Amino acid sequence: MPPKKPTPPPPAREATAPPPAGHPPGQGHAAIPTDVHILWINAGLSCDGDSVSVTAATLPSIEDVVLQGIPGLPKVHMHNPVLATEVGEEFLAPFRAAARGELGAPYVLVVEGSIPNEKVKAEGYWAGWGEDADTRQPILTCDWIDQLAPGAVAAIAIGTCAAYGGIHAMAGNPTGCMGLADYLGWEWRSAAGLPVINVPGCPVQPDNFMETVTYLLYQVAGMAPMIPLDSMLRPTWLFGKTVHEGCDRAGYYEQSDFASEYGSPKCLVRLGCWGPVVNCNVPKRGWMDGVGGCPNVGGICMACTMPGFPDKFMPFMDEPPGSSVSVAMGKPYGRIIRTLRGITNAGVNRETKWRHTGDRLTTGYQETVPISN
Ligand code: SF4
Ligand code: SF4
Ligand code: SF4
Repeated sequence: MPPKKPTPPPPAREATAPPPAGHPPGQGHAAIPTDVHILWINAGLSCDGDSVSVTAATLPSIEDVVLQGIPGLPKVHMHNPVLATEVGEEFLAPFRAAARGELGAPYVLVVEGSIPNEKVKAEGYWAGWGEDADTRQPILTCDWIDQLAPGAVAAIAIGTCAAYGGIHAMAGNPTGCMGLADYLGWEWRSAAGLPVINVPGCPVQPDNFMETVTYLLYQVAGMAPMIPLDSMLRPTWLFGKTVHEGCDRAGYYEQSDFASEYGSPKCLVRLGCWGPVVNCNVPKRGWMDGVGGCPNVGGICMACTMPGFPDKFMPFMDEPPGSSVSVAMGKPYGRIIRTLRGITNAGVNRETKWRHTGDRLTTGYQETVPISN
């Protein structure tokens, strides 16, 4: 299937009744599967950073999911080349079976890395995975996606490369690469009626991905409604707020107290932080088991989750153009408010005057007179 021209994204979706898991809409309810495979292709234009990142997940961890530590989930068979103990043809066997329609159980397709356009070059290939048994030539990553996507109950683009193109798709790249929804079409639907599900981040925040997978597994098991996605196909509960709204330094921003060098605890906007306009929950959630979180720990937000990343946010480390306006407007307000808060803070940092020794009560207590009949 040739790459389709990207079309405008569909409108934001509300949670609706669950589709029959593993069945196209309108074809009756499927039996709830006891087993589900996760077929994870990291052979887009990828650095494997998302596979590595997910090993740090704790809510839930990979082990929780594949060892059936979560009640109600089907048995999960995870096939990821970074995590697998099988190699070569033994590892590829379930992918080949799924491509032939012979896997025997529903599967979720996970794509990591951006999808190259194999039609924009004269010879060779951009990305491949495994070998064609007849021709002994690499099987193109695009061909794997073409064969596996139609039968998947869900397709997840993990990381910003797979979601929107990311680093590899920046201006001047020779591969013409793109995200999974750009490749399949934004109107594409899985066998269970779901659009591509984007979990961006460079790399993905590990719990964001595992939580999305867990949600989908519950949906496949008929125990969750349709996953709520925004217009860029991101889970709404993960990407509905900005970095700024969850940042530990937002109090400094509010009173126009800005860092001018690294190492300061103040707001980093003048050092290049894009947090006020970036959809990401990392400052709230942290990176690993609640620890970390970009601006919280001293790094600017460079907008790595965003569809316009990286081109629309470069050069990194420069003050974002819009922020100079808000910074300039906030300066007089910030000066006044910091002064007033300083005075109030000094006042409330003292105890009240009636807490003292001596034989005189100065609390203002007034003895009540008993009411007589
Ligand atoms: Fe690597 Fe980032 Fe692309 Fe993931 S999104 S494959 S971490 S460059
Ligand atoms: Fe907002 Fe960035 Fe400042 Fe945090 S560091 S308050 S995200 S501008
Ligand atoms: Fe990326 Fe910014 Fe989120 Fe950090 S806070 S993960 S840089 S979008």
